[in-house]
Amino acid sequence: DEAERAAMQAALAEVKAQLGRDYPLIIGGGEVVTADWLPSFDPSDPSRLVGRAAKAGPAEADAALEAAWKAFETWKRWPQEHRSRVLWKAAHIMRRRKFELAAWMVYEVGKNWVEAIADVAEAIDFLDYYGRIALNLKGPEAVPLYPYPGEDNEAFYIPLGAGVSISPWNFPVAIFTGMLAGPIAVGNTVVAKPAEDAVVVAHKVFEVLEEAGLPPGVANLLPGVGEEVGAHLVAHPDTRFVTFTGSLEVGLIITETAAKRIPNQRWIKRVVTELGGKDAILVDETADLDLAAQHIVASAYGFSGQKCSAASRLIVVDKVHDLLMEKVTERSEKLVVGPAEENPDLGPVINAEQEAKVLKYIELGKKEGQLVLGGEKLEGPGFFIAPTVFTGVDPHARIAQEEIFGPVLSTIRVKDFDEGLEVANATRYGLTGGVFSRDRERLERARYEFHVGNLYFNRKITGALVGVQPFGGFNLSGTDSKAGGPDYLHHFVQMKSVTERF
Ligand code: NAD
Repeated sequence: DEAERAAMQAALAEVKAQLGRDYPLIIGGGEVVTADWLPSFDPSDPSRLVGRAAKAGPAEADAALEAAWKAFETWKRWPQEHRSRVLWKAAHIMRRRKFELAAWMVYEVGKNWVEAIADVAEAIDFLDYYGRIALNLKGPEAVPLYPYPGEDNEAFYIPLGAGVSISPWNFPVAIFTGMLAGPIAVGNTVVAKPAEDAVVVAHKVFEVLEEAGLPPGVANLLPGVGEEVGAHLVAHPDTRFVTFTGSLEVGLIITETAAKRIPNQRWIKRVVTELGGKDAILVDETADLDLAAQHIVASAYGFSGQKCSAASRLIVVDKVHDLLMEKVTERSEKLVVGPAEENPDLGPVINAEQEAKVLKYIELGKKEGQLVLGGEKLEGPGFFIAPTVFTGVDPHARIAQEEIFGPVLSTIRVKDFDEGLEVANATRYGLTGGVFSRDRERLERARYEFHVGNLYFNRKITGALVGVQPFGGFNLSGTDSKAGGPDYLHHFVQMKSVTERF
């Protein structure tokens, strides 16, 4: 609406005037500057420096873990209500700074306004929700036990200790905040390693946490290179848990590293991973095709397809295939691609490397299927790629199996719903999925047989809401951690039972 538009424009102008600054590491509440910098550029115009973050190395990682363990000694003793209150205060501050934080994402990761505002809204929801459900884990009352004669038994949850959060760039406020807020809510302390492409936004989130009164050392900020400081943190003997959101490739490395036997080993590291997807939408001949086309386009091209939940496979029953594809391409063609600050439908992809990767998949797609729309890099200083549609793709083709993480939709034609369901499940991932159908019986079947963590009927397959759709995938999409779900905080506690003989 008008008020939102004006607020966003004002925030963009304000943030634009602040681009190009330097940001320190935050260790134990103190600012630390190192000899190296990590520059972060605007993907809509990479000649524009958004900011530079001090680059952490192993020495800073060691110091941050030490600060986190020190803070743990007091933070774990805080009454749960007080810890929750800090999160709620942070949510309140984020509400106040919503447009500003969104504007930083417009410049740093190329989100359009709508996506950027939604990203902040999700972070606010995480803070509110985890603060609230942390209260449910409080004290022995939270753990009902069977009575046993002659004994007094109780069990309660205690935090794990100091851990590491390693996050992606694609939800740099929401996921970054959620991965901190979860462990912190229940008394842990964290060293946060943000993605290289989102270091400035990460610093803004830390400003919010500090203003909310989070004690020094409870959260520590360590921008750095994943393979260097990230790997060091995961392997570190002082790391009690690792929470990771990112690619399958890195998720597997982290899982393996964390499990390695090391000298002075004191625990089995808890590892929570939320990884990629190759998410499918299945459309049958009973579907409302206009509705389907509208939601397919939203699912495939929102944030240029750079979401783990994005639709990247479209599976269509033969009978309605051509008609649906007409509708999908007609809508996709109209999408505006451009600099994120102009609030286009699609902004750029994140960086030159990702652009090259997506274009490589498009070239491969021209061999594996028929290009019916897009398929090219668009003009401009930014990393702009046209919304791209392939049809006639074999379910086992690489563009139907590998996560592209760009605005590319691979369409597979099937003879009927049953074959469609089989094809939908023929992937090593299992994050989100969707069905467009008016056939009740088929929807009931898909409810149990479509093997994904988040399944949607007759609506888009992205945009899980905190507390509404617990989010997390099956198979190689991660450890099914269900962020924003009622059990999420269990990943970050351990249970202790105490028995006393009468
Ligand atoms: P990425 O795996 O390249 O990087 C994620 C993080 O890991 C970054 O902070 C990076 O610096 C760090 N890292 C890289 N190598 C490392 C190593 N060897 N040791 C420790 N840390 C290391 O992912 P990305 O490009 O930032 O994000 C996109 C990916 O994230 C996609 O695959 C997407 O599907 C996935 N994702 C999943 C979810 C989910 O909830 N399941 C949500 C968002 C994104």
